[in-house]
Amino acid sequence: MSSGPGTEASPTLTTALQARMQRPQRHRLLQGYPAVPLMGPAVPPWTPNDDAGRSERGELRRLFDGTVVDTRASLAALALTRPPSPEAPHPEIQARWAALDRKRLARLEDQAALPSLAQPPVVAVDPTRSLIVGVLPHTQCTPRVEGCGFCTFPHDAPTDKQTRGFIVNTVRGDIAHVLQAESLKGRAVDAVYFGGGTANLTAVSELRSLFGTLAASLDLRGAEVSLEGIPALFTSWFHAPLKMLAELPVRRKRISMGVQTFDRHFIEMMGRQSFGDQSLIQRLVRKCRSMDIGTSGDFLFNLPGQTLEGMSDDVDRAVACGFDQICLYNLVLYKGLGTLWSEMPLLVDAMPSNDAACAHWLSLRTRLLSAGYVQTTLTNFERSDVASGERAFVYERASFSPERTDGLGFGPLSISTFIDSRAQKGLKLLRRKNMSYRPWSGDDLFYVYGPAELRVLFVTRSLAKASFSRAAYTSMFQSEVLDDFSASFSALQMADLINGARNDDVVSLTPRGMFYSDSVVATFATEQKIASERALGMHTTALLAEPLQTAVDYYGMG
Ligand code: SF4
Repeated sequence: MSSGPGTEASPTLTTALQARMQRPQRHRLLQGYPAVPLMGPAVPPWTPNDDAGRSERGELRRLFDGTVVDTRASLAALALTRPPSPEAPHPEIQARWAALDRKRLARLEDQAALPSLAQPPVVAVDPTRSLIVGVLPHTQCTPRVEGCGFCTFPHDAPTDKQTRGFIVNTVRGDIAHVLQAESLKGRAVDAVYFGGGTANLTAVSELRSLFGTLAASLDLRGAEVSLEGIPALFTSWFHAPLKMLAELPVRRKRISMGVQTFDRHFIEMMGRQSFGDQSLIQRLVRKCRSMDIGTSGDFLFNLPGQTLEGMSDDVDRAVACGFDQICLYNLVLYKGLGTLWSEMPLLVDAMPSNDAACAHWLSLRTRLLSAGYVQTTLTNFERSDVASGERAFVYERASFSPERTDGLGFGPLSISTFIDSRAQKGLKLLRRKNMSYRPWSGDDLFYVYGPAELRVLFVTRSLAKASFSRAAYTSMFQSEVLDDFSASFSALQMADLINGARNDDVVSLTPRGMFYSDSVVATFATEQKIASERALGMHTTALLAEPLQTAVDYYGMG
């Protein structure tokens, strides 16, 4: 272990860290700081009593740079120009219509005189930063049981193709609407990701149309484009999704498939029998290689009651499949999590202790490294020939590099993040499943980073790559990370979770610290004692459970 920055560990931080390390660990840091409970409403309160900040028809909305547009008064003024109702033949009806007109006019005049809630931008968009785009076309998938039992990602039961097509069209409308912004026109994009969930359940024509809407405004020629989904669907209609990918005029293409495990017992528990077995996956990987499409496979470990032999067998079979990238995710399962499995005491009780789960992680990590894979993020391992060449995967590395990358997200529960390094400000936007309003208005969520919050974002987001450069931190904040977070470093080094000393160029998680990364980032966030006045305290699980809503007369269409 490297020597610490030389400050006493705070007893409060140490005690809190020990308590956190007893809880279930997520070990992936996907969402980025802050988590949902700290986020507030996307638009200012409509009235002083309107805590949720809803705007009834989306007339009050936020743009991707934080600007609030308030069109209520101008829309009311426009409506005032509407001619009064035509004269009714009967005098009594005429009088009623006239009364209604007077009421309507009075209401509109009130609205036209409303004080504007418009706000200037939060960030000046910096076109020299790299940009990545995530698109979740819909939240549907096809397991035979409710979800796959363990899944904490947005997922809903499949509907007919027409309804799904309507949702995808709504997402396409969001893209067209947001990309009207002049400051995004022609901006080069490093990577586009269609996922998570079962994005490959989307019709090929719809995926093409989503890509086309992006390409109409953004420069995608140098981008890596990924499509996520379940293995069997990539082979449907004579590999139509692969052919569509191969034809895209972009730099690199890749698919990401959820495999989870090869163990028949667990596959049946998940209802994934028809998702593709090892032989289908092996053929799919070969087919992709022949089409110059990269392949990535997601696997879970520490399934309830799973032995280390079982987990190791999954890793060995994944290596035998020939994936360019293998991703290992520690299963999160505890009572109250909100998944189907979390309501089954037999499964919850069969989960390993954190000590045992961490030992499994260390063993599987060593196994993958010995098989010739290189760890690129907390969960992702690329085959060494891929990692060192121009086929190296882009999206995750960029996503975990807040010093240089902004992110634009479309679709239900998508996240966007923009940073203005010069002003030391940033913003995060989360689109809810209620998509019947323009992005980002209605129920959507929002968070503003100041200098202290940006420092937490930098450290916690960068650690998803398992390490970051101290010089990159200093260049962004003109301060030293070991000083800014001295108490956290002391507590984390005492627990053997992090390395970082004045003579080290990088701060890095220890292999054990990778497993406890959830606890590590919470320690950094706690030290900054950041309060969020506008936090709604919403729980992520509550967001996932919301029904997906789209309006029939959607007015987000560009
Ligand atoms: S793991 Fe994938 S297929 Fe299963 S419920 Fe989650 S999103 Fe759907």
